[in-house]
Amino acid sequence: MRPTPNAGILDIAPYVGGKSTAKAGVRVVKLSSNETPLGASPAAIEAYKEAAGNLHRYPDGSATKLRETIAEVYNLPSGQIVCGAGSDELIGLLIHAYVKADDEVLISEHGFLMYKIYAQSVGAKVIFAPEKNLRTDVDAILKAVTEKTKIVFIANPNNPTGSYISASEMKHLHDNLPKNVILAIDDAYSEYATPDDYSDGSELVKTSENTVMLRTFSKIYGLSALRLGWMFAPAHIIDAVNRIRGPFNISTPAISAGIAAIRDTGFTQRTKEFNRKWLDWLNTEITKLGLTVHPSIGNFLIVEIPVEKHTAYYANAYLLERGLIVREVVNYGLPNCLRISIGLEEDNKAVVSALKEFLSK
Ligand code: PMP
Repeated sequence: MRPTPNAGILDIAPYVGGKSTAKAGVRVVKLSSNETPLGASPAAIEAYKEAAGNLHRYPDGSATKLRETIAEVYNLPSGQIVCGAGSDELIGLLIHAYVKADDEVLISEHGFLMYKIYAQSVGAKVIFAPEKNLRTDVDAILKAVTEKTKIVFIANPNNPTGSYISASEMKHLHDNLPKNVILAIDDAYSEYATPDDYSDGSELVKTSENTVMLRTFSKIYGLSALRLGWMFAPAHIIDAVNRIRGPFNISTPAISAGIAAIRDTGFTQRTKEFNRKWLDWLNTEITKLGLTVHPSIGNFLIVEIPVEKHTAYYANAYLLERGLIVREVVNYGLPNCLRISIGLEEDNKAVVSALKEFLSK
């Protein structure tokens, strides 16, 4: 006899993060986890260091100053914000508060995998709605709603596809969802978005009782190592999540660095502009190689490797040999694709050269 986990737990395929090591002896360029190549704001790093003097004290369990700073910068009410150890933790808390065994969680076909993993952890059924051209199809989502649906997760822009849905598509989805279903808009890459018809989830949160917006400090703010995310939601959902989260779920260094990072709007703007420039450049240059690049508004893009000649598996291995770590996305149902995060100028150029060499072989 030995302890056994709950039904379904051992059926979960664990989340596989982006690789961070390549062959010994080659310079490693990590382009596999959608991190920013520009690092965190110097002000955030300084604030992190200053927090070292207070490590013997528990953090402020309600992260009041951080919530107030987010509220000020994003013009939102601080009482409707909750912070988490990465947005991952908030996805989990939301599911634990609202979803039980045999309920359904609805996700787009190539949606971010942590929604599935947390849903499975409570014994819920995960329903995937088909996409068109690697893009969330809101009507397919609506068609898949049943009486058992509890949460619909939409990453906007989505990881790994980089595609987005417009503000009017999101509104159409919300308008037609039953009012007891949560629409969770995961805006992890929102700060990178530039299209005019894009908007983050905040307006829908303000005007409804069933929409939440998830955000992270891991992407444009460059604080992935600290684990920090936040959710803006109606007060009744914040209340439910606060009841089940750990009392000190985010650390003092994360709070301090987060406040400084979000205040350094100049740094964020420069990172956004850098990303736009190199996203466009990579898109153009990889397209010139004859490969299909799917339109992305995040800090990464998806490239299709033609199966008849080569496969994504071999392309990945070829890049890896040269220290260029990108991401295979087989587990997202995209076996012919690679996801490449935007890197520094020399890294982006190295990716294009290596892909060119690979294709000419
Ligand atoms: N949502 C999406 C769409 C993501 O891509 C990621 C990071 N891979 C997360 C949430 C989680 O981010 P974190 O937990 O670092 O805040």
